[in-house]
Amino acid sequence: MNIAFIGLGNMGGLMVQNLLKSGQKVFGYDLNEVALQHFADAGGLMCESPQAAAKQADVVITMLPAAKQVREVYLGENGILAVLKAGSLCIDCSTIDPQSIKDIAALGEDKGIRICDAPVSGGTLGAQDATLTFMIGADEKTLQAIQPILRQMGKNLLHCGAVGTGQIAKICNNLILGISMTAVAEGMALGAKLGIDPQALAAVINTSSGRCWSSEIYNPWPDICANAPSSRGYKDGFAAQLMLKDLGLAVEAAEQVNYPMVLGSLVQKRYQQLCQEGDAALDFSSIIHQYTAEPA
Ligand code: NAD
Repeated sequence: MNIAFIGLGNMGGLMVQNLLKSGQKVFGYDLNEVALQHFADAGGLMCESPQAAAKQADVVITMLPAAKQVREVYLGENGILAVLKAGSLCIDCSTIDPQSIKDIAALGEDKGIRICDAPVSGGTLGAQDATLTFMIGADEKTLQAIQPILRQMGKNLLHCGAVGTGQIAKICNNLILGISMTAVAEGMALGAKLGIDPQALAAVINTSSGRCWSSEIYNPWPDICANAPSSRGYKDGFAAQLMLKDLGLAVEAAEQVNYPMVLGSLVQKRYQQLCQEGDAALDFSSIIHQYTAEPA
């Protein structure tokens, strides 16, 4: 089985390494030449376009920034749907709006190409260690077919329902994550301002009812969690601009169904401000900069 992997960035670049380690033949493409070279150095087969990669493939995996790029790669002028053979499988792991993947899947179905969504959680560490959680939106037959491939890159394969439901799960999860990270940042920064040692405060929160993933595993205050981006200058994590994108997806989805979003909209504004002030490329836990210029 030949695999094409399109989008070899922070996540895709690490995920594909695990496919290569498992002995898969992978044809890859990315707009970024450095990412492409890194892939080739690990044994991947470099291609000159998404179509060139897809032509060789039985299975295509896409890991792109947003819906615009996903639509372009599948449906654009040089899109892969035009060259894939009937019977091919496509797995989009990007985080995008549920409707976009449903539209693309319907167009694929007309050509006998099965397309599903499998966005991920677990960040770059999960991508590196092959411990990602995949939230899968697919019919039963597609689910069975993609499981052996996804197992090479992840630990938890969760079937959410039909195409698009993986994205629904993902945007709801990230809505909660954005809110909880902002809550922990607000609490930690307030505590420090009032004079408690942040280490002591984190120890209390993490054995009390304020405890959550954002406080315990990924605390936004530096040097509470040795492996968290906050302990390395907020570098190499989940970019604030991607969190802003995901909050936008949640707010937009809520508007479509007249759902009264409250906290999500507030936190979206906080992330807008953070990105405008120059932290867009930093990890999303840098939201703490909105409360204190330099947590130390
Ligand atoms: P990234 O920006 O690092 O990588 C995306 C890659 O796609 C880049 O290398 C870019 O050059 C490439 N690309 C863009 N347009 C392209 C095109 N038309 N053709 C080919 N390549 C193209 O982003 P990432 O952090 O890897 O995230 C990818 C997706 O995964 C996003 O939707 C993000 O929301 C989601 N995600 C990220 C994380 C994380 O921790 N970084 C965690 C979970 C989910």
